[in-house]
Amino acid sequence: MANAEIVAIGSELLLGQIVDTNSAWMAQRLTALGVNLYFKSVVGDNPGRMKEVIARAVERADIVITSGGIGPTQDDLTREIVAEVTGRKLVQDAGMLEQVEEHFRRRGRPMTPNNLRQSYMPEGAIPVKNPNGTAPSFVVEGPRAAIFSLPGVPVEMKWLFENEVEPYLRNKFNLAEVIHYRVLKIVGVGESAVDDKVGHLIAHSSNPTVGVLALPGQVDVRIAAKAANRAEAMKMIAPVEAEVRGLLGTAIFAADEDTMEHVTGKLLRQKNQTVAVCEDLTCGQLAERMQTASMENFSAGFICNNEAALGALLKNSHDPIKIDEVLKDPVALTDAMARAARQQSGSDLGLALHAIADPNSKIQNLAAGQTYVSLTDGKTFFRRESTSAGRGAYDRSRMTLNAIDLLRTALLEGMS
Ligand code: ATP
Ligand code: MG
Repeated sequence: MANAEIVAIGSELLLGQIVDTNSAWMAQRLTALGVNLYFKSVVGDNPGRMKEVIARAVERADIVITSGGIGPTQDDLTREIVAEVTGRKLVQDAGMLEQVEEHFRRRGRPMTPNNLRQSYMPEGAIPVKNPNGTAPSFVVEGPRAAIFSLPGVPVEMKWLFENEVEPYLRNKFNLAEVIHYRVLKIVGVGESAVDDKVGHLIAHSSNPTVGVLALPGQVDVRIAAKAANRAEAMKMIAPVEAEVRGLLGTAIFAADEDTMEHVTGKLLRQKNQTVAVCEDLTCGQLAERMQTASMENFSAGFICNNEAALGALLKNSHDPIKIDEVLKDPVALTDAMARAARQQSGSDLGLALHAIADPNSKIQNLAAGQTYVSLTDGKTFFRRESTSAGRGAYDRSRMTLNAIDLLRTALLEGMS
């Protein structure tokens, strides 16, 4: 199996101004291709250190992929350093010069002289066209490793990786196998409970392998198969997926790229239901995500930040004498919020999220508190309660996901 190494170049990456997302993205693609990745490094725009890192990579990998530093500016040093490491001269390539000139001609912009730098490559390198930018890419094939130099701009890098690097790797290393994944997304069941149910699959899996990943409010079960092609891999994944689905049922809300918003929006459209929400601690995130779920089926969102606002909302749909009592009982209050949101907006359904956070809790995930969710169609109520609530980003998204999940399960169970 071929071994790859990634070198991300750019001082802004070391300074923490930009997160090195390129390497993570490439790592996923390499894994899917069946290429081993043993090292990734980040180095600044410093000739000595770039040389050190690339020279070491060339000694221990079959393919070194660099990203960044092939542009026209003074700090773009990758072509010079790759030439030095591979003991070659930098020479101008007529095709590359033509490509750079053509790029500026098409855009009707004058070409500054520094752009000429981009027409130089290490002698004997294979030029690779970059249709999305000015900086052409190139491959230098050494005695042991090949170096593929890609631009840093993510869209350019990704396009070149998919259209040039992948075919190159398949061909050079005769890659016959692919790794394909299925990700099943679970809500409302904790990581250890998921592990308890599917743990035997994790322990005894080799191909496909089964793994669990915990996210705020969500647990992913990943089933990965290695096979000659995608169809074959899917065939191997199918029985394992069926087993996991059998064990976790509707707690699995989506697979792969699907989201809670997408799945719930689809159900609302199918059942032709409109919904309004009322929330307090989640800063409007419930409204935002419901509007993302379905523009046509989401009718209104109420964010009530204090008792006065809640009282005003409830006034029109509740007996004023009882409001004080309702405000004291969180379950009754959440029901009242759901009912009011539904009535005030003339919607089919009302969904409410009321949370009381512990003011001393500093953590962002599963902070101490109490969260109440209620959904009504005007006749019955579906409710959920959990013993955590927080103002942090993780807690907000976890609470919101859980509230939308109540709507999803209610629709699945036939509410409406
Ligand atoms: P050009 O200068 O032609 O844009 P380049 O190859 O010289 O391309 P860089 O100058 O190194 O690329 O980076 C351009 C931009 O691409 C950076 O400002 C940054 O926004 C983004 N970028 C670079 N490297 C990475 C990386 N590893 N992960 C995510 N983004 C990156
Ligand atoms: Mg640059």
